[in-house]
Amino acid sequence: MDIKESFKNVYRKLSEKKWIAYNLLLSVIVASGFILDHYTNFSQTVSSSISSRPAVVNLSAFAVKVPTLKYGFAVDTFQVVQKEIKSGQNLGDILTTYNIGFQDIEKLVANSKDVFDVRQLRAGKAYTIFSKDTLQGADYFIYEPSVYEYYVFDLKDKLKATKYERPVDSKIRAAAGSIESSLWNAMIDNGLSYEVTSKMEAALQWSIDFHHIQKEDEFRLIFDQNYIEGEKVGVGQLYLANYKRQDKEFYSIWYENAEGTIKGFYDLEGRTMKSKFLKSPVKYSRISSYYNLNRFHPILKRRRPHYGTDYAAPYGTPIYAVGNGTITKASYTKGNGRFVKIKHDKVYETQYLHMQKFAPGIKPGVFVTQGQVIGYVGSTGLATGPHVCFRFWKNGKQVNHLRLNFPQAKPLPDDELPKFMELRDQYLKMIEGIEPVKVKKEAIEEDLPEGKKGNP
Ligand SMILES: [Zn+2]
Repeated sequence: MDIKESFKNVYRKLSEKKWIAYNLLLSVIVASGFILDHYTNFSQTVSSSISSRPAVVNLSAFAVKVPTLKYGFAVDTFQVVQKEIKSGQNLGDILTTYNIGFQDIEKLVANSKDVFDVRQLRAGKAYTIFSKDTLQGADYFIYEPSVYEYYVFDLKDKLKATKYERPVDSKIRAAAGSIESSLWNAMIDNGLSYEVTSKMEAALQWSIDFHHIQKEDEFRLIFDQNYIEGEKVGVGQLYLANYKRQDKEFYSIWYENAEGTIKGFYDLEGRTMKSKFLKSPVKYSRISSYYNLNRFHPILKRRRPHYGTDYAAPYGTPIYAVGNGTITKASYTKGNGRFVKIKHDKVYETQYLHMQKFAPGIKPGVFVTQGQVIGYVGSTGLATGPHVCFRFWKNGKQVNHLRLNFPQAKPLPDDELPKFMELRDQYLKMIEGIEPVKVKKEAIEEDLPEGKKGNP
């Protein structure tokens, strides 16, 4: 069975509830076969030590066991409670259960407002309470919105919050992969690969339509891997994305000049990757129906030309303007449901049908930019399920946007090009000889032992 067939079969079997998980998986598939944790010779460690809390260690004439530290506190001298913020819970709700009075909470909130707005506490995020004596009330409340930072609220003396950022190390890393359908399930719980994948998608969004992932497509990437205390915590800047599909190959290279006045992704010749239009108006969806002048309509039960491309996606998925332009229509008809039409220039217009709702502020006359959310996927009008019917107009006629080719963009200015080329050649050397290797799940994202690196 070829990959497209198996895609279709899987979709047929999926219930609506599994949609989100499946779409996530579809995007993650790109990263499957992700292999080489390849630290190259010129990998560099960038340490940005921002601030760190001094360790609290009691010095003594006797040899002492070094206490286990958490957030800079000696854990064994406190009673420690670790929890997650529940939905609807605010700072007052939490602190009153740890014997902190309302007056103190008010002072704490007021004293901390320049450091942290307590309305920014988010459900699902971690917090920790340190208490010396629970009857006397807790001593510290620590809120950790991400692995990169945390806030220590002093509940006794200062009644004030302090922000701490953890020092992040990053190493340049090169990796390669190939599309392996058998690894779908293995990849779904791999958050890191998902992050790399979405960065690759972003870098190549103007040249590749990721709805057409095919088995044996290959990719190579160079990016910053971030570490905190030796643990991988996420992905920083993506420097190079290379994607091979049969005989076609795409490169997207990040370039930023010293002044910071020029930055973005460029092709091998230094031409900006950004083009006038994005390849699709939704991420992580699938094409459920193509532009087809002789299509059998599923609801009307008769042949009727389909002038658009349908992208099926879960209800509420954001829909993006594919290019800059002015909204000419944001209205409702029986057939189109809620829809938006954008005029990009004298020649091109785009239209997005069956929306659940418009994004705030979307109405005729408003100027929107490429990638701006204009609405959300729904099934209003004549639609069997949630999707966006995307229509591309050229000189007042609806055309198949998947067949359109747009003129190439201008390259970087002359004085930037030599620097760009030098960087480009460095990156190309880094990915030279890195081949995707088919590996078992255990090896994905793990450092391969020496001797097993590269091609087996
Ligand atoms: Zn359609």
